Amino acid sequence: LAKVLEHEQDLPSCTPDGHVMPLMVNTGLAVDAVGVLKPRISGVGLYRTEVPFMITERFPGEQEQARLYREQLEGFAPLPVVMRTLDIGGDKDLPYFPINEANPFLGWRGIRVTLDHPEVLMVQLRAMLRASDGLGNLQILLPMVTNIDEVDAALRLLDRALIELAEEGIHLARPRVGVMIEVPATLYQLEALAARVDFFSVGSNDLTQYLLAVDRNNPRVAELYDSCHPAVLAALAYLAQEVTRLRVPTSVCGELAGDPAGALLLMGMGFDALSMNAPSLPRVRAAIRRVSLASARDLVDQTLAMPTSREVRSYLGKCFSDWQ
Ligand code: PEP
Ligand code: MG
Repeated sequence: LAKVLEHEQDLPSCTPDGHVMPLMVNTGLAVDAVGVLKPRISGVGLYRTEVPFMITERFPGEQEQARLYREQLEGFAPLPVVMRTLDIGGDKDLPYFPINEANPFLGWRGIRVTLDHPEVLMVQLRAMLRASDGLGNLQILLPMVTNIDEVDAALRLLDRALIELAEEGIHLARPRVGVMIEVPATLYQLEALAARVDFFSVGSNDLTQYLLAVDRNNPRVAELYDSCHPAVLAALAYLAQEVTRLRVPTSVCGELAGDPAGALLLMGMGFDALSMNAPSLPRVRAAIRRVSLASARDLVDQTLAMPTSREVRSYLGKCFSDWQ
């Protein structure tokens, strides 16, 4: 099987009935395999900027960040690179910026932190913009969005960063901006969000955690944490239908996208692209190359009718035993 997968790595991510499913990668630190990876993907669907922040001893300055971001943007150019603004809090703590809370996943996290510290967000936005000069492949993603006001505030800061840079002689167009769909509240604000941003990226890890009220890192409730829970699948199917209606390009960057059966479900629901850790690419590509879009849609219909994750999982297991 490994040999078959290796052989297929350079073939298109296309179903037998001709549907092309763009595959992207999730990155954090420098990726060494850019040369090998680049021809096999459509871009970086999620660059987690907090990862480099976690290994420094203080907030990296604008120059330092710009150098890191330039490496990513240049390495993958002309492919798009979606850079997410700092998503700390929850399980991701910076040693030099401790956050101690009783309920960190429901607390000060992602955009809530960076909007309370606009000086941190401004440095990051300026560094991203600076790094993108002359490349044009930067896209900016906002994590943990709950309210429209947060998006408006972040866009205002982005516009301010663009004006500042222009005053310094660096003239840039506003990059495409997207919102993570990972707090369930965003599912019911899609129209207002669509009026403000250019794309969505679905964080199925957090969407699952928040829909099911299950801490994604607590081993005691690990069995309850399940992206194939009928409520999660129903939410994802609803989301895919709505973003199609609203014509907002939407990819999925949570773990579900890197699971072959999950990837087929997401394709069948109608999402535009899947972003995953690089090691997941071969199996997902192989699954897509073997299952038609029509069968994936059928799979969605079948699973949406199942009342328990146990049934969903056992059905998917039977269908894809070769690819798990
Ligand atoms: C997610 O929540 O699914 C996601 C991709 O973001 P993270 O895992 O970094 O929270
Ligand atoms: Mg998340």
